[in-house]
Amino acid sequence: MSIHLYLSPHLDDAALSCGGHMLAALAAGTQVRVINIFAGIPDYTHLSAYARRQHAKWGNPPDPYAARRAEDAAALAVIDAEVENWDDLDAIYRPAGGPFLYNNHDEVFGPIHPDERGYPVTLAARCDALAVGLHDVTWFAPLAVGGHVDHRIARDTGFILHAQGHRVAFYEDFPYAARWQEVAEMLDASHHAWQPALTAIDIEGKIALVRAYVSQLTAVFGDETLVETTIRDYAAALAIAPDLAGFQKPVRSAQAAPTYYERTWRIVR
Ligand SMILES: [Zn+2]
Repeated sequence: MSIHLYLSPHLDDAALSCGGHMLAALAAGTQVRVINIFAGIPDYTHLSAYARRQHAKWGNPPDPYAARRAEDAAALAVIDAEVENWDDLDAIYRPAGGPFLYNNHDEVFGPIHPDERGYPVTLAARCDALAVGLHDVTWFAPLAVGGHVDHRIARDTGFILHAQGHRVAFYEDFPYAARWQEVAEMLDASHHAWQPALTAIDIEGKIALVRAYVSQLTAVFGDETLVETTIRDYAAALAIAPDLAGFQKPVRSAQAAPTYYERTWRIVR
């Protein structure tokens, strides 16, 4: 049995970016496992000022990571995907005990801190060990569209796995990827040549999956009422510019019954 391993920086990224892809793989009899990398439970008694502000924005839940793990596990159980949570901490909590490396929005959405340059190597070694004994493995790593440092670390992990001969597909971080220009910029900045692949998806299934991440909907989509249209519009628009030609956001013509897609990218050189 072949297996798809989705590297998900946070406890919702795989569903947001690859939910349709996972449903299609499962329907085809492929085993699906989501690996939530930065899913560790931090020491809530020792947080940076920035982390405390984030917690306040979330309404100061007593244990937000345990709650998000439970939410993610429940959502993925419904579709029969496996889940594996790693204990690495989200950027805002690193390193445990401080002094913290990412202390504001720009740092969190910026380059990998010099102290963490070796992090992708560590994660790639863990992935490599995990794949031993598995048959017909395909890894999925984010392109890091949007630029979150945890996504960059996961992307660079994917680059290392690719260089080591693993089969790796890179997915578009949603909903950041709805800003098409940023997808093009990330692809260009990598200095690789890329080939896109579209996967037709069950759009209703994806929307239902994403909706299960109740705690994240407002933060991710701005407003819960935008969840469905944001997902639907992007998935339909991919059919019109599958290779990002011109890097323009396509204007959707009135299609009677649009086909919905998710896009992944393979490195060709
Ligand atoms: Zn994320």
